[in-house]
Amino acid sequence: MENKLKLDIVTPHGLILSEEVDEVVCAGSEGEFGVLPAHVPFFTILKIGMLTYKKGNETRFVFVNWGYAEVGPDKVTVLADSAEKSDDIDVERAKAAMKRAEERLKKEAEIDSARATSSLERSIARVQIAEKRIIR
Ligand code: ATP
Repeated sequence: MENKLKLDIVTPHGLILSEEVDEVVCAGSEGEFGVLPAHVPFFTILKIGMLTYKKGNETRFVFVNWGYAEVGPDKVTVLADSAEKSDDIDVERAKAAMKRAEERLKKEAEIDSARATSSLERSIARVQIAEKRIIR
């Protein structure tokens, strides 16, 4: 569609989102980047963080757990390990995951600290993004 972007977010758990949008902002591994229609094509790695998109007057928020973004002139496709729209985030589950990760990190010598650190990063991002509501 002219002057629109098709945003697809796909994870091993299924298609999380497929919408015609006006603008997308992603947490790239090298920093945040924004995409408007007619952007030059590129491919990049995403880190744990927030994807924001604008649709008309609304701004919406999605948690993205690692992955890739493929940008074309009229398309942004995100392939992520997991992703949830802000409304779909279970805050209690994220807080429980945060507590588990913090407990594991206290016993650093005994555990895989990289794994616990990313679990902590995911849970913190989920709690923050869950607080965000659609901006109109
Ligand atoms: P947990 O330890 O709670 O499973 P996790 O970070 O290990 O968290 P992931 O591996 O990222 O979980 O995700 C596994 C599945 O569970 C995915 O489908 C993801 O969307 C979903 N999920 C994980 N945490 C939440 C949450 N807090 N709210 C909603 N869905 C979640």
